[in-house]
Amino acid sequence: MTETARKRLLPSSKNWIWKMTDVMSPQQRSELMARIRGTRNESTEMALARLLRAAHLSGWRRHSRISWQAEHLSPSLRKILLKNNFRASVVPDFMFRERRTVLFIDGCFWHSCPQHGTVPSSNVDYWGPKLLRNRNRDRFVDAALCHLGWTVLRVWEHELKQPERLTNWLLRQLNPG
Ligand SMILES: [Zn+2]
Repeated sequence: MTETARKRLLPSSKNWIWKMTDVMSPQQRSELMARIRGTRNESTEMALARLLRAAHLSGWRRHSRISWQAEHLSPSLRKILLKNNFRASVVPDFMFRERRTVLFIDGCFWHSCPQHGTVPSSNVDYWGPKLLRNRNRDRFVDAALCHLGWTVLRVWEHELKQPERLTNWLLRQLNPG
């Protein structure tokens, strides 16, 4: 299973601040912060949409489905698809069709973020397999999309708390070079 085209923002490091200052002026930064504030009651997807607009990242759509047929996948992916009874399509949170890039915002609980993901102790037998299936499905979807030539970007819900960092990373991924 190849994941070469799948990218995720890496944990904070000291030098991201340097990169950030390259990309945004103080004015742009305060404008961005002003526009992102007050999003707590919106869904994470809406918050990310707002962030994309604030960063002038356009060319995306939501609720667009990407389908594939089993025969278009590699034999190993086909096996995973059939064995797990996964769907042969996905609706990415954001699709940048011209860039052939999709962007997912993964909830920390549902997608088992390494920092905040937990299995509820009240019903481990239910949640354990369910959350594991989610993780496996994510990896399968990533691999299937990569196989079909899509670049897959995934960000965690908690990364919305550092909007500047997230914005800069998205700008680099979506406007390379
Ligand atoms: Zn998290």
